Parts: sequence; structure tokens; C-alpha cells
Amino acid sequence: MAQQTLEVLQSTDLKPKPDSSELAFGKYFTDHMFMMDYAADKGWQRPRIVPYQPLTMDPSAMVFHYGQTVFEGLKAYRMSDGDIRLFRPEENFKRMNHSSERLSIPPIDEDLMLDYLKELVKLEKEWIPTEPGTSLYIRPMIISTEESLNVAPSNTYTFMIILSPVGSFYKEGINPVGIFVEDEYTRAAPGGTGNAKTAGNYCAAYKAQERATANNKAQVLWLDAIEKKYIEEVGSMNVFFKIDGEIHTPVLNGSILEGITRKSVIELLEHLEMPVQERQISMDEVIAAHEAGTLQEVFGTGTAAVISPVGSLQYKDQDYVVNNGKMGETAKQLYETLIGIQTGRLKDPF
Ligand code: PMP
Repeated sequence: MAQQTLEVLQSTDLKPKPDSSELAFGKYFTDHMFMMDYAADKGWQRPRIVPYQPLTMDPSAMVFHYGQTVFEGLKAYRMSDGDIRLFRPEENFKRMNHSSERLSIPPIDEDLMLDYLKELVKLEKEWIPTEPGTSLYIRPMIISTEESLNVAPSNTYTFMIILSPVGSFYKEGINPVGIFVEDEYTRAAPGGTGNAKTAGNYCAAYKAQERATANNKAQVLWLDAIEKKYIEEVGSMNVFFKIDGEIHTPVLNGSILEGITRKSVIELLEHLEMPVQERQISMDEVIAAHEAGTLQEVFGTGTAAVISPVGSLQYKDQDYVVNNGKMGETAKQLYETLIGIQTGRLKDPF
């Protein structure tokens, strides 16, 4: 897509900004949004920033029926000197194109989207909260808009970016979470869409989340779809294990989403001379390590929480407590380093 003039239509009706203490995840949205349309004969066109508004769509629009859609999630932080930082945004647009490829959606120009995103974030900079742990969550998405019930890729799409100020994930301090190991429902299968960020993967996980909640656990640990034996992800995060002083994470196998936090953690640990073993990890092996006293830490990684320590694992009606239910030293070090880099307090070694 060639550079096209970005139209900016400023809102004349600015909303009051919520108090930092009221912020939750994805509850408030800023005054403006970015939009761009695609038509098969024209490509991506009409990039524009417009007042945040509802969409008017035909009920036959393809996205409502067959779920041809992809999305992303990343954050912007405002520094004490007023500077704004995005955390590895080019990785999100790259992953979005990877997801789109799987969903037969036309690719976007990653560099251009980053330019447009920067314009939008600059316009909305007053919406970026500054309290520790808060940020501006950025949600790019593409929906299929063709008016047809035909089961086939849409000929038209809309790309949008909306922004939402979000509160600290750890308002009450970092408390390790309880995890329910799900051995009936699965999230993603080989050859499926697990490594694409697409809506269907998320609603298909609700049923398992209900079981976790009913067992007083915060999140689901997903196992592979074939043998229900190998660990894939935790909730909508990637997962890491510290066993006998070494860090391990499931190898990307096509059904695991390639997290940008996962990639950052692997690079950081490599830099700290703690190389991560990316390999197939079975639940049996984790239980055996617990029994041998070598399971030292379990933690999830993702944009929302950054690092989420796991305090217990429930597997086949047995509860296994990890690190006395406390946050481990590696999780703590990673959390502090990543937050430090994201908020500009620490120098980014990369
Ligand atoms: N797995 C899934 C299924 C996710 O939705 C996410 C969140 N995007 C992640 C892992 C973590 O990815 P990231 O570190 O890029 O947020």
C-alpha cells in the first residue's frame, strides 16, 4: 500500500477522562479511533482518524457469521518527562499479518500502520495514565464486512485501532494465581488456528474457564489436543517453568500463540546467561519435578499482566502448590526488568 494522506477528523465532544482508580481492563475508550477500508479492487484505502463511534453494519456482514477477523493487543506508556513509549509495536503488526494470512485476510503495510498508530497515540496522549502499573492498551483489529452469507473469504474489510486506558493488573500487589489443568477441553489443535490471534480461539475457551472458576482457580492450563499430555499455554498467556535451576517453555508447535512477552523473556534470559529450553513439556514431567522438589517456579507471560506467577496447579483432582504459593525470584526479576524497560526506568539492552 502506498503512503496515503491520513485524514484526521477531530472530535468536538471530548469525554471526561476516568480517574486512575476507576480504571479496569477495556472499560473506557478514548475520543478517537483509526479506521481504514479494504476492497479487493482497491486495496487498503482511506486511512483516517475519526471520533470514537459505533459502527453501522449490515446484519449479513461476514464477520458476524463466520468469524473472519483478527486482532492485536499492545500498550503505550507515558514517562515522567511526558515522553510516550510503545513496547515492540512492530512485532504486533508482524503477528497481525501472520494471523491474517491464516484467516485469508489481506495483509497490511506494517510500517505504515505503525506510523498511523503513532499519530493516533499522539493525538490521545492525555488519555495515557501515569500512575505506576497503568498504561494505554491498544487494540488493532480487522473485521470482514462483505454483506453476504457466502462461506468464503470476504471481499471487503475494515481495519480499526481503538485505545483504552487500563489500570494496574496488580492493584493489590502480585499474588500468584491458582491454575486448573484442563484435560477435557482443548484450545487449539495442530493445523488449526491456535497460533493466530483470532476471535474464535477466545470464545472457545470460555467453557474451560468456567470449570476453572468453579474449582476456585483463576486460569486454565491448556494441554495439547491429541494426547492431552503436553503443556501449551496458560489462560491467554505463554507459560514458563523453572525446574532445578533451568527455565523451560513449550516449543512453538503451531497451536501456541507466539507471545511478544514470551519472545522478550527468552531474549532477556539469554542476555542474563540463563538460556531458556524451548521444548515439549509434559504434565507428568511437571508433577514428577514437583514430587522430587525441583519444580521451583511457574509463571505466565503476556501483555496484560507482563509476568503472572502461578501459586498452585490443580491436576486430576490433586492440588500441587508451587514455591509455597509465593512469587519466585526469576519471575520477580523478569517482572521488574520488563516493567522497567517498558516505562523507561531501565535501559533496554536491545
Ligand atoms: N497466548 C495467547 C492465547 C494470547 O492471547 C496472548 C496475548 N496476546 C499471549 C499468549 C501472550 O502474548 P503477548 O505476550 O504478545 O501478549
